[in-house]
Amino acid sequence: QQTRPAPRRVLVAGNWKMHHDHLETIRTLQELGLRLPEGASSRVEVVVHPPFTDLRSAQTTIEDRGLPLVLGAQHCYHQDAGAFTGEVAPPMLARLGVRYVLVGHSERRRLFGQDDQQVAATLQAIRRHGMVPVLCVGETEEERAAGATEERLAAQLTAALAGLDGEAVSALVVAYEPVWAIGTGQTATPEDAQAACAFIRGRLVEAHGPEAAAVRLLYGGSVTPETTLELLRGRDVDGLLVGGASLRADSFAAIVQAA
Ligand code: PGA
Repeated sequence: QQTRPAPRRVLVAGNWKMHHDHLETIRTLQELGLRLPEGASSRVEVVVHPPFTDLRSAQTTIEDRGLPLVLGAQHCYHQDAGAFTGEVAPPMLARLGVRYVLVGHSERRRLFGQDDQQVAATLQAIRRHGMVPVLCVGETEEERAAGATEERLAAQLTAALAGLDGEAVSALVVAYEPVWAIGTGQTATPEDAQAACAFIRGRLVEAHGPEAAAVRLLYGGSVTPETTLELLRGRDVDGLLVGGASLRADSFAAIVQAA
């Protein structure tokens, strides 16, 4: 059963993780500006998620050079202000022109103990400040081997999106990021990526109503310029979340070119 509405602009997001200081970020963005194919931004929305300390420099570089890039962040706290040493608040990101914020990335869940409740609260805080949450979900190797992929995805979606109506869900981005594929060089097959995205879309429609079908779904996990085209052939795959291959301007531009 087809739940996906008319074709939409592809979203390609680069998650730089804890790489690039502010000078490397400026250089990478400038080079990206030179390498991005002419007119690409009409077909592809290109987002970069640099570390917090680079956001200000990235915002200035993008605006000053008129680069066809959108600014993203990798994380934030769910409170707007307060005694939370070391954290960054959503309104601080919004003030810097950040449009997309990753939430629930498997590295945050696994290495920093982010639980479902925090993911849900953070997602709401991002929305409250007019930014777009990019909710990351995905199964581990063990869950996959046990045939529990869909169960895991459903549980993560339910926990993160409780109480949202179809319209609110349609404005989100959800990234399917199988944990076993992240940073391993083991990309999911285009068939597996499509199957998981179709499941996610169907599940969201079931839980939040027909309007949720317009949600944008990304695949992430060892994406390369070589695997881009095939992955995007999946009718429910609306874009890609790219880690390692987004760090260098040449490979990230090649992914945008292939998209
Ligand atoms: P990777 O990372 O492309 O390096 O596998 C993807 C991600 O973690 O978002």
